[in-house]
Amino acid sequence: AGTGKFFVGGNWKCNGTKDSITKLVSDLNSSKLEPDVDVVVAPPFVYLDLVKNSLTDRIELSSQNSWVGKGGAFTGEISVEQLKDIGAKWVILGHSERRHIIGEENEFIGKKAAYALSEGLGVIACIGELLEEREAGKTFDPLSFADAVPSWDNIVIAYEPVWAIGTGKVATPQQAQEVHVAVRDWLKNNVSAEVASKTRIIYGGSVNGGNSTELAKQEDIDGFLVGGASLKGPEFATIVNSVT
Ligand code: PEP
Repeated sequence: AGTGKFFVGGNWKCNGTKDSITKLVSDLNSSKLEPDVDVVVAPPFVYLDLVKNSLTDRIELSSQNSWVGKGGAFTGEISVEQLKDIGAKWVILGHSERRHIIGEENEFIGKKAAYALSEGLGVIACIGELLEEREAGKTFDPLSFADAVPSWDNIVIAYEPVWAIGTGKVATPQQAQEVHVAVRDWLKNNVSAEVASKTRIIYGGSVNGGNSTELAKQEDIDGFLVGGASLKGPEFATIVNSVT
């Protein structure tokens, strides 16, 4: 971990029912979390309000997506204004499942990020390469949406190699560290040295209670975005606490 405050996000994806989410919230409420870690969970939209009303304030709320502009006649979408209204502080944008299954592209993701940031919502911006892209040396192309980012104060970058998401194939601590350094260098060369040093770069892809401590030891890994293992309260707490 680097000098910024460690950041651990739980991406619940399209999982859960009222019953299972109530149980997960209760497990999170009773777990001991290290104070010096930012902890965020991203429940499915329909349960955001339930979670907001039952989860400890120690843990902040994120959505898994947001509409690209002000709300209105956009059937099926959820606006940044509505998310703020129910108490969300963050939004995950550019997740690989939205890029590769739903077809969102950098330009659209960039506009969403710009809008959310301009309205004061923090953005967990996901980047990460497909295996073919890694082999072709294209790891950092997705960061091109950075051009649309108006301010870096409220943004966390999640590096999630697509080949490691939900596959059980975690990047080795060295592999992840190497990419995090390269992302930081990219920020230094394309944004500024200040942004490069203060922006938290978190790792995602098959992080669990057994591998998080080794990953957290890497100097440029400033936290995690956790999918599957965030659905189990005690394991998620172990991951949050792995930085100490
Ligand atoms: C994710 O989708 O953000 C993720 C990292 O998933 P998992 O931890 O299940 O690989």
